[in-house]
Amino acid sequence: MEQSITYLPFITIYCFTIDNFIDKISYRSTTKGDRPPLENKLDRIEEVLLMGPGPSCVPDSVYAALGHKTLGHMDPAFIEIMDEVKSLLQAVMQTQNRMTLPISGTGSAGMEASFVNLVEKDDPVLILINGVFGKRMADVAGRLGARVETLEFEWGTPVVLERVEEKLRGGRYKILAVVHAETSTGVKNPVEEIGGMLRGTDTLFLVDAVTSLGGMRVATDEWGADALYSGSQKCLSCPPGLAPISFSTRALEIIAARKTKVPNWYLDISLLTQYWGGRSRVYHHTAPINMIYAIYQSLLLIMEEGFDSVCRRHLDCHRRLVEGLEALGLEMLVSRDCRLPMLNSLRIPEGADDAAVRGRLRNEHKIEIGAGLGPLAGKIWRIGLMGHTARPENVDRVLGALKQVLGR
Ligand code: PLP
Repeated sequence: MEQSITYLPFITIYCFTIDNFIDKISYRSTTKGDRPPLENKLDRIEEVLLMGPGPSCVPDSVYAALGHKTLGHMDPAFIEIMDEVKSLLQAVMQTQNRMTLPISGTGSAGMEASFVNLVEKDDPVLILINGVFGKRMADVAGRLGARVETLEFEWGTPVVLERVEEKLRGGRYKILAVVHAETSTGVKNPVEEIGGMLRGTDTLFLVDAVTSLGGMRVATDEWGADALYSGSQKCLSCPPGLAPISFSTRALEIIAARKTKVPNWYLDISLLTQYWGGRSRVYHHTAPINMIYAIYQSLLLIMEEGFDSVCRRHLDCHRRLVEGLEALGLEMLVSRDCRLPMLNSLRIPEGADDAAVRGRLRNEHKIEIGAGLGPLAGKIWRIGLMGHTARPENVDRVLGALKQVLGR
């Protein structure tokens, strides 16, 4: 008797927990008259103007594309769409590379895919760093056993060509990697000139174009890029989930001659080729079918508008934004000659509370802007003008909201 009294509270708690658990998994609560029905959180999603570092706003026709009926991943009608996506990506990436396709995964999967296919243990790799994403590249390459050397530049300033030249004179590298559009700062790096330095050498050129692709010129072949990757959620105006990538013929030859197997099955480009290329397709992994519809639609939108007009729209919006910010007495972080059109960093003015201002923009004005990262945390805000977001009415809206919140 004494024993059962001691155990009673534990048994009660146990029964209550089990009952709660069964309630949750069996949806009993929806049928019990005394409890409210389960809430669907999706019903509470509001329309937010995405003016941060990505994702950007998604056009209605891209949302509609996502909602088309899912086909099988080997269905001939789907394979036709895959082929179209490859050629549209070749056009936007300005390349003839056969191996141009969207990797399943976000921009970081593009980064991983580039390094994991090209790097073998002890390979010398040079990484140029002036922000978060250059740093991430060094981490990814290091995990693969590469002998990573870095050249670092102050955040908010571009890569200095003379220093790269000097570094290349002093060593031989299998790969040189750089971020074209450093999203953490808003700096455009001189990729064309770096590509020029590598021309005629046997160093592979690896370029991160996650933020730049679809908003400014990305000339894969002209720059001599051997691996170039991007992400769907920035200037391509698609939800996050795909990483367009392109490998040069030279890169594919190096991959084919590897001494060791690519250490990642999912991102092994030789296996992916069998699904994405050739007449008969071999199943590799189930493609994210509806995301492929979405990127197809967003690439069609870019083609319909015309690539030059798309770039001009980004530039015009950037100029309108900078002019408006300066009129409010706000100061840009990056000097004019190396600013990105799609990512605008401004210094947080004296006395403004970083998080409070961003919170008010989000809650009162339904606008998201980005915070600073790393050494720039609390020092800058990042305003994205990417893809569908890059419209004059959005620029005016964020300027109006900032004016009100900052009381200027
Ligand atoms: N590279 C750059 C330049 C980026 O801006 C980002 C994301 O913001 C990434 C890589 C990583 O992409 P994701 O967050 O889509 O994995």
